[in-house]
Amino acid sequence: MRASSIDSRGKKREVNPEKDKAERRNRSHSRGRISVVGIGPGSAEHMTPKAREAIEAADVVVGYKTYVELVRSLVKSGGQVISGTMGREVDRARTAVAKALENKRVAVVSSGDPGVYGMAGIVLEVAALEGKGIPVEIVPGVTAATAAASRLGAPLVTDFAVISLSDLLTPWEQIEERLEAAAKADFAIVLYNPQSMGRKEPLAKAHEILLRHRAPSTPVGVVRQAGREGEGTVITTLERLLDCDVDMVTTIIVGNSTTRVVNGRMVTPRGYDLSR
Ligand code: SAH
Repeated sequence: MRASSIDSRGKKREVNPEKDKAERRNRSHSRGRISVVGIGPGSAEHMTPKAREAIEAADVVVGYKTYVELVRSLVKSGGQVISGTMGREVDRARTAVAKALENKRVAVVSSGDPGVYGMAGIVLEVAALEGKGIPVEIVPGVTAATAAASRLGAPLVTDFAVISLSDLLTPWEQIEERLEAAAKADFAIVLYNPQSMGRKEPLAKAHEILLRHRAPSTPVGVVRQAGREGEGTVITTLERLLDCDVDMVTTIIVGNSTTRVVNGRMVTPRGYDLSR
């Protein structure tokens, strides 16, 4: 039987279900596939239906232990859960590829969006090296920047930059250069990985750089554990940023030179004229 369908570019294409089925059968790893899934900031309501489906359909769910715990209730009965520790991302990517090569459907879970400081890149790289053509799909999620912005108001409605203060994989000098450049160019700035236990210097240093380019009164939002138990939101000023409680699950948004606090919410005006 022949039919036609519209592909993603809006073009008509011939569909031949028998041929498609045969092609799929002939592929050596016909069922094995990997979905790299963004689970959002933490709460179920911020997870997309597509992310949920990918986890529910998986034979194997791989992820950092905190994230795996957030989605454990979705794993199908008999599904395997492989959780790992921070810093073992390459191992997790390799495990995912190995399981897909055993014809398993694999979901690699990442918090927020997997393409924002997440597992998407490393899984694609390892799959290219070791995956023998197994399909890899990236399922986007609500990233901490937008989750935090929504709690604060609307601080990111115009150009913004996202900078991680973690120097585990990026040299600190480069982080400083990026902070300097973004501050100078008047971007609103989102800081990921601002601090962890025993790592307070990066935030102090970032604060110093930002103050060189921005007024001490610049509004700053600090959002901890967005969408998770213990969530906390503070709107303060750049001058007082270091007085706030900041941990590993905190996102900081530094306003640009036009950002204001409007009715208790942080707003970066986009430029609309309200006087008319
Ligand atoms: N892929 C993730 C980011 C991973 S990097 C995403 O797209 O959101 C880890 C950093 O993300 C944390 O240090 C913190 O800055 C931020 N983060 C992740 N989840 C968060 C949450 N629920 N609330 C606030 N910040 C969060």
